[in-house]
Amino acid sequence: MAYPEPIEALMSAFERFPGIGKRTAERLAFHVLRDPSSIGLARAIERALAEAKRCHECGNVAEQDPCRICADPERDRAQVAVVEEPRHVEALERARVFRGRYHVLMGAWQPAEGSDARHLAIGPLLQRVQQGTITELILATDPDAEGEATAALVLDALESLGPLTLKVTRLARGLPAGAALEYMHRGIIEDALAGRREVHLRP
Ligand SMILES: [Zn+2]
Repeated sequence: MAYPEPIEALMSAFERFPGIGKRTAERLAFHVLRDPSSIGLARAIERALAEAKRCHECGNVAEQDPCRICADPERDRAQVAVVEEPRHVEALERARVFRGRYHVLMGAWQPAEGSDARHLAIGPLLQRVQQGTITELILATDPDAEGEATAALVLDALESLGPLTLKVTRLARGLPAGAALEYMHRGIIEDALAGRREVHLRP
């Protein structure tokens, strides 16, 4: 049995969110119908889409373009940490152990789920690399299967550029396997950064 079309449309809109299956999409859609204040959600989404900016340099979401970090002359241009999501920038900033800049991929690659890597901001990263100001690229993706797959994808893309003079490093393996960067204690992030190891690109 199908629901009336507008409800089906709302359900399929929810189903496009990460981690939302059919059942949850159905529950959310009926919650929206029951609760008249849900219209606030529609407005919040509209506002976020219209007003939230993406920094053209690092790809992070920001209130201004370039973002606060890219606009800061004190931040080292030569060192760039490649992270999956804006929340990872927040985690590293909270730890206050990194004075370089960031590149936000806006997602991770999940090959097991057949996910598409095309939405990841790898192209803009290659452009930044080709500008020649970066001397070290730190792959700071999560130490889980998706983070490793994403790091491997970035490495492949870098290798496709041909010989590069920059150094590529990966956060130290001292990180608890499968742990998410955002939940790590400051000391652990500090150790992971300090103990980062070089990843050699295939010539
Ligand atoms: Zn930025």
